[in-house]
Amino acid sequence: MAIERTFSMIKPDATARNLTGAITNVLEKAGLRVVASKRVWMTEKQAEGFYAVHRARPFFGELVSTMTAGPTVIQVLEGENAIAKNREVMGATDPAKAAEGTIRKLFAKSIGENSVHGSDAPETARQEIAYWFAETEIVG
Ligand code: ADP
Ligand code: MG
Repeated sequence: MAIERTFSMIKPDATARNLTGAITNVLEKAGLRVVASKRVWMTEKQAEGFYAVHRARPFFGELVSTMTAGPTVIQVLEGENAIAKNREVMGATDPAKAAEGTIRKLFAKSIGENSVHGSDAPETARQEIAYWFAETEIVG
C-alpha cells in the first residue's frame, strides 16, 4: 500500500469543546501522522469555496454558518492508505450511523456538527491540501 496524504479538519463544534487533542489522538492511534497543522477561523468566502461541491444542497447555508462559527484546526495527515483510513476512523457523516470507536461516534453532536472533515478521494485530497497549505508548510 502506498503512503498517501489527506486533508483533515477539526470543525468548530469540536474546537469549542476543546477536543483538538482528543481527536488528534484517535487519528494518531490509527497510524496517521500530522505533517502540517494550523488553526484557522475561516471566512464565509473561504467556507463557500471549500465546500463549493455542496453549493446546491439544501444544507449549504447551514454548513457555511457552522463552519464559520468558530476556529477550526486543519491538518495534513500522512500514512499508508491515509485517505481511506481517515474516512474509516472518522465514521459515517451522521453520528447516529457511525461505528463504535469512530471520531463521529465518540464526539459528534449531529449530522451538521459532526466534528471532523476528511478528503474522500485522491483528487479531492490534493485539491483540499492545496486550498489551505503551501507546500513549504508540509513537513513529513
Ligand atoms: P462527509 O463530511 O462525511 O464527507 P458530506 O460530504 O456528504 O459528508 O457533507 C459535508 C458536510 O455537510 C457534512 O460533514 C456535514 O457537516 C454537512 N451535512 C451533510 N449532510 C447534512 C444534512 N443532511 N444536514 C445538515 N448538514 C449536513
Ligand atoms: Mg464529503
